[in-house]
Amino acid sequence: MKVSEYFGENVFSRAVMQERLPKKVYAEVMSVVEHGGQISMASADVVAKAMMEWAIEKGATHYTHWFQPLTGVTAEKHDSFLSAPDENGKEILNLTGKQLIMGEPDASSFPSGGLRSTHYARGYTAWDMTSPAFVKEMACGTILCIPTVFVAYSGEALDNKTPLLRSMQALSQQAVRILHLFGNTQAERVIPSVGAEQEYFIVDREKYLKRRDLIYTGRTLFGAPAPKGQELDDQYFGVIRERVGAFMKDLNKELWKMGITATTQHNEVAPAQHECAPIYCTCNVAVDQNQLMMETMKRVATQHGLVCLLHEKPFAGVNGSGKHNNWSITSDLGENLLDPGKTPNDNLQFLLVLSCIIKAVDRHADLLRMSTACVGNDHRLGANEAPPAIVSIFLGNQLEDVVEQIVKNGTAAGCIAGGQLDTGVSTLPVLNKDATDRNRTSPFAFTGNKFEFRMVGSSDCIATANTVLNTIVAEAFCEAADELEGSTDFTADANRVIAENLRKHSRVIFNGNGYSADWIAEAARRGLPNLPSMVSSVPSLTTDKAVQLFGKFGVFTRAELESRSEIMYETYTKVISIEARTMLHMAGKHYIPAVVRNCTRLADSVCKVHTACPAAPTGVQETLLCQTSELLTKAASAEHHLEGLVEQLGRMDNVHDMAVFCHDMIMPAMQDLRDPIDRLELIVDKDIWPVPTYGDLMFEV
Ligand code: ADP
Ligand code: MG
Repeated sequence: MKVSEYFGENVFSRAVMQERLPKKVYAEVMSVVEHGGQISMASADVVAKAMMEWAIEKGATHYTHWFQPLTGVTAEKHDSFLSAPDENGKEILNLTGKQLIMGEPDASSFPSGGLRSTHYARGYTAWDMTSPAFVKEMACGTILCIPTVFVAYSGEALDNKTPLLRSMQALSQQAVRILHLFGNTQAERVIPSVGAEQEYFIVDREKYLKRRDLIYTGRTLFGAPAPKGQELDDQYFGVIRERVGAFMKDLNKELWKMGITATTQHNEVAPAQHECAPIYCTCNVAVDQNQLMMETMKRVATQHGLVCLLHEKPFAGVNGSGKHNNWSITSDLGENLLDPGKTPNDNLQFLLVLSCIIKAVDRHADLLRMSTACVGNDHRLGANEAPPAIVSIFLGNQLEDVVEQIVKNGTAAGCIAGGQLDTGVSTLPVLNKDATDRNRTSPFAFTGNKFEFRMVGSSDCIATANTVLNTIVAEAFCEAADELEGSTDFTADANRVIAENLRKHSRVIFNGNGYSADWIAEAARRGLPNLPSMVSSVPSLTTDKAVQLFGKFGVFTRAELESRSEIMYETYTKVISIEARTMLHMAGKHYIPAVVRNCTRLADSVCKVHTACPAAPTGVQETLLCQTSELLTKAASAEHHLEGLVEQLGRMDNVHDMAVFCHDMIMPAMQDLRDPIDRLELIVDKDIWPVPTYGDLMFEV
């Protein structure tokens, strides 16, 4: 079947609405989507009926309000379209406008960070008309999914989407003011666009099911390195293995049906690591689609006897996975505000926008870093292979030069051009070069007409990163507009604001190697924050600076920020506790008994060889037995120590202290248990070793 025959077939898109809704109702829907406001109940009834009929034609039996609570994954409760049968026992299928617009799931079992005590369990879901409804084909049935926000009885956000939508609104309002300054008065809205490149690992499901660590935590908590890692660089962009290729083919089809434009697929750096990227779209839709992409990856992998690991660091010693959040802002007239044009030095609007973004990122580097904090990402950020935990901006030669000129002289007289690329082979075409090379180590890199925010974790929801990005940029735009609206000498004043922004904030620009140790020292000299762990980044949520920022633009109230910081501490503690308990389980039930068996086998061998032939040397077995027994003793004592710490944690009750305890005490104790067991793996019989190894998992898919 041709792609065009099924692309988007499961989306209640604008085209479908236009076809199925009365003109007036369609216009009402589009007006709310574009300008805000309320849809009338009468029209909601009409939309609901059309949506249900469309979904039933696709085989749907149920509908759900699909939302994004603060668990990082999506939530859904299915209700069938059936209502009580009529007097003849005939079924009645129904979806009312009220059911479409609003739902009331019991909110008590979702994280609320104290926003709602359990006995006040009311939470509401409300239809987000800006993100299209869709049907999802699952083993449990075909389900009509209505994207919604999730809020408490008090109106406070219990999800990732509500603040994101608020931040988009704030950004739009402030960016429009900037456009109007430059005479672009036709523009009514500015919309952030996002394209999220998703990295993941694929492993065999049967092997996966033999590892409790993968099942419970999504990452390996033990495991010696395989003889081969990623040193040959032969995986990156390599030929895709057949089984993985078949998975990718089905994945694309499933995504395309839901209107998700999965477009790029390739092998990533680590063995068994891959990437999928869609074409960018409106920020909140991109967030929804990324959640759906992650979910679909897992589902389709299972159908292929595989498992998709979205954890940031499934395997020690090889690259982890992230998500590159490509972000740009475009007016409703189609103008990308991040397009520098051929000569950025005299593109005043671009320079003002750029200087505002630089100011925003420098001022709120702590918040941006926090926005990418999740437990798994602690293994990436600051580790050798990922962007460091220090936020800096890469601009590339051309823009860096322009910025330097402005810092020095107040304006920029010229700029470096791209030029041509000559390979020296006469039969090859001469290529037009970009004005700047790339930098793979920068956490926040300008890539032509967008910024690529590379710190987000592979398993994380991208909503928070974009909420922070939109809001901090809205603030900088607001300040620039406050200063320039009513200016009598606009060009001079705009140049002054640009130069001021850049002079104050260009310390955040760094074009060098972000992975080098020198950079950490240099960043400290520049006064840039370095928050190396999730726990250390949480306080940035509730600083006066943050409360003021989010309050001013109506994105988060103080209570919402406090609740989120509590949830982050809680989540950290829960995840680390699960990891520690899983290690104790695996050590106690799998590794130690297996090693004991191995010792017995060695001892048996020594005895039997002695008996059979007293002159035969048994030194090899004895040395192995001694080494094994020593490591076994170390493992048992580390196990005991970790067990004690987990018990101690159980007696604590302050969320912050518990998270710090997990980070400072439990994590190192976990490593102490892992070390001897990983060394044992190298000397114990393969047939006795109780779980698949790194080699089995990464190279035998
Ligand atoms: P790169 O090679 O720099 O990673 P790609 O062109 O492969 O860039 O794009 C990576 C991701 O960025 C894709 O999801 C793409 O759709 C998205 N993207 C491209 N242009 C923009 C833009 N202007 N705004 C937001 N995202 C974009
Ligand atoms: Mg990229």
